[in-house]
Amino acid sequence: MNTTNDSIKISFFSTKPYDKDFFNDANKAFNFQLEFFETHLGPHSVNVVNNTQVVCVFVNDKITTEVIEVLATKGVKIIALRCAGFNNVEIAACKEKGIKVCRVPAYSPEAVAEHALALIMTLNRKTNKAYNRVREQNFSLNGLLGFNVHNKTVGVIGTGNIGHAFCKIMLGLGCKVMAFDLIANKDLEAMGVTYHPLVELLQNADILSLHCPLNEQTKHLINVTTIALMKKGVMIINTSRGALIDTHAVIVGLKKAQIGYLGIDVYEQEDKLFFKDLSSDIIQDDDIQRLMSFPNVLVTAHQAFFTKEALEEIAHVTLTNILELSAAKPLSIKAALLV
Ligand code: NAD
Repeated sequence: MNTTNDSIKISFFSTKPYDKDFFNDANKAFNFQLEFFETHLGPHSVNVVNNTQVVCVFVNDKITTEVIEVLATKGVKIIALRCAGFNNVEIAACKEKGIKVCRVPAYSPEAVAEHALALIMTLNRKTNKAYNRVREQNFSLNGLLGFNVHNKTVGVIGTGNIGHAFCKIMLGLGCKVMAFDLIANKDLEAMGVTYHPLVELLQNADILSLHCPLNEQTKHLINVTTIALMKKGVMIINTSRGALIDTHAVIVGLKKAQIGYLGIDVYEQEDKLFFKDLSSDIIQDDDIQRLMSFPNVLVTAHQAFFTKEALEEIAHVTLTNILELSAAKPLSIKAALLV
């Protein structure tokens, strides 16, 4: 056990019981001081940061310029994201304040890719409906008709770590896999994936799966114009970030049956909803309520990453990143360093 790290305190935000379990377990090999807050980190909560060198945040924490200024005055030196995406952190402001930012670039791409497959197969074969039906002794098949995924054309936008794992799964199911990315992946091309301009991919895909990051170029990539290019009845799957999809455009597409199925693990306004038990609350977000009212829409609450293997890897890599940054060493995982 390393005995020199107990002077370093890490303050965790947006924590759930499983975060504490996995980080406490991984920390046996590091011996940092861990402090867990359930609240999101944002302008409303930044003042709870006290006498800490490191804050550890997740997907819906809001690391705005205002928050970064306060963190800098409180002596925070490292912001450690325990996720891959970093669209919620003002990177330039961190750089200006000399705060290091790290992430976990690829903890388990398979976890997310396999969840995308789960969304596809549930929407297609309606196992969620069959489960409820059979429990009520309704053994009828009416309304449960699916389609063979075999031989269908799958369009993959973004073939990085997760997109790569997803392409391999879909090739294994006998699909034709078309991809769009800024850089073609030679390994995938050798396996039979073909790269195409975005428009061509949108026009040909039976199933479209999003695996690119959220940034200025990709925000509302799925919009009125791009939906109009798609095949009627297309299945859209988003396990990446909610704002890749213009929710209003998708609702119109679903009402017109231009979109045949929608499976989302992420949602543009998810920060007010996801990871919370709101079962006794009145939901004020009419868009998510409208989405959930469609029989051909499946929403999961940002759980694609949520496997044992992924949580173990997230905890281990996050603490390793912090250890290396604290010792001013280069990170073992180069892509983990953002500033
Ligand atoms: P990655 O960086 O390995 O891959 C992203 C790919 O997208 C790269 O190949 C990149 O070239 C490509 N890309 C970038 N801009 C593009 C554009 N404008 N058009 C098309 N392609 C573009 O990232 P990853 O690990 O595969 O993760 C992808 C996304 O998945 C993350 O950004 C994150 O938002 C999301 N994610 C979600 C969950 C979840 O639980 N739902 C978990 C992990 C990651």
